[in-house]
Amino acid sequence: MTMKSISSLSIDELQAFYNEAKQQYDAYRQKGVSINMARGKPSPQQLDLSNNLLDLKREDIGIKDADGNDVRNYGGLCGIPECRALFGEMMGVPADNVIAAGSSSLNLMYDYISQCCTHGTGGCDPWIFDNHRKFIAIVPGYDRHFAIAEYFGLQMISVPMTPTGPDMDRIEEIVKDPSVKGMFCVPKYSNPDGITYSPETVERIAAMRTAAPDFRVIWDEAYIVHDLYDEKDELANVFEFAEKYGTQNRFIAVASTSKITFAGAGVSAIVAFGDTLKEIKKRLSWQIISYDKMNQLRHCALYHSVADIQAQMKKHAEILRPKFDAVLDILHAELDGLEIATFNSPRGGYFISLNVNTGSAKYVGKLCSECGLTLTDVGATYPYGVDPNDANIRIAPSCPSVEELKTAAQILCSAVKIAACESLLGIQS
Ligand code: PMP
Repeated sequence: MTMKSISSLSIDELQAFYNEAKQQYDAYRQKGVSINMARGKPSPQQLDLSNNLLDLKREDIGIKDADGNDVRNYGGLCGIPECRALFGEMMGVPADNVIAAGSSSLNLMYDYISQCCTHGTGGCDPWIFDNHRKFIAIVPGYDRHFAIAEYFGLQMISVPMTPTGPDMDRIEEIVKDPSVKGMFCVPKYSNPDGITYSPETVERIAAMRTAAPDFRVIWDEAYIVHDLYDEKDELANVFEFAEKYGTQNRFIAVASTSKITFAGAGVSAIVAFGDTLKEIKKRLSWQIISYDKMNQLRHCALYHSVADIQAQMKKHAEILRPKFDAVLDILHAELDGLEIATFNSPRGGYFISLNVNTGSAKYVGKLCSECGLTLTDVGATYPYGVDPNDANIRIAPSCPSVEELKTAAQILCSAVKIAACESLLGIQS
């Protein structure tokens, strides 16, 4: 049954609706819950899927990589060949363009921005020399990307997400400023909207003319194989477009196995072409002698091809899907038709993005927290932690159990209703 928009209710109907939401909320508050939906962490059940990595014996793994090099020793700055090939297949690029690295793609992104700031890229001045240096922030987005930009003093210019990716008309205008040095993109199952950029958007990002010759796009493929359903989103290959437009130096792609095997204890990779790749390799030659090749070899003992990874991702999806469905079913049942919230139904990734009435997200977050439900800090999906509309709430359903998620979604919906009713009834909150 679709409910009526709450703005069409009479005062008495609205008051009754409010009382009901409050009663539901108070009941949960009295019961006392402790549920954390703040971060996109894999659940223990998902981590258990990779315990076979821990069970591998020396004879299962060996000590030599595909080229016969001893992985226990220094050397092989770009990673072992089979791991580079695996990421190459996953990310649609030749193995030669891949550096298989340590356990974190975030670390690779941070280091890359740091390098551009202190040493410059493409023969241009270090970004830090430009007092007006700026970065495009696609919103809502990933708080840790924004944190890196903020840390390096890159002033962020927000560009809204659309169902086909960031608003490209806006971006094409903004990049006319030579102080705009780049942007982070999560092109598949974006964090938090779960949007996959359309081929047109990917092509425009590769084709656009930027005033800054050293404009860089950090193409964060964090959710590249993280499909929840059989019907998957397909992401166009940005490097093919980049080749067409001669902009291969613009792109730095990263990925990791953090949500394939162990979070923070897997393998990450960075992909680049031409001079950009040369610059990264040169910098790395000062930064590290070689990454943890033993962990790379361990991963490659279990995963020989993307087909093996996809089989693993199906197992993740079987655990994650009921969780997303539990939250989405309740959001639909409780909120559809009321016209007080919108939300996405992603086909992959780790998040559901909920948009409530302007000016009420922080209050919803406060109500949830007072009930024992921890959400991602409201505002965190925007630069500097400030959502100008105070409307977006990121839901991370991966870690709690299905039962906990049902409770969490009910609490969240009652909080959304309370906030909307109080604003219509003129109740000071
Ligand atoms: N990028 C995005 C978009 C993410 O959501 C996350 C994890 N939440 C990361 C990067 C972190 O990746 P890693 O574990 O490889 O550092």
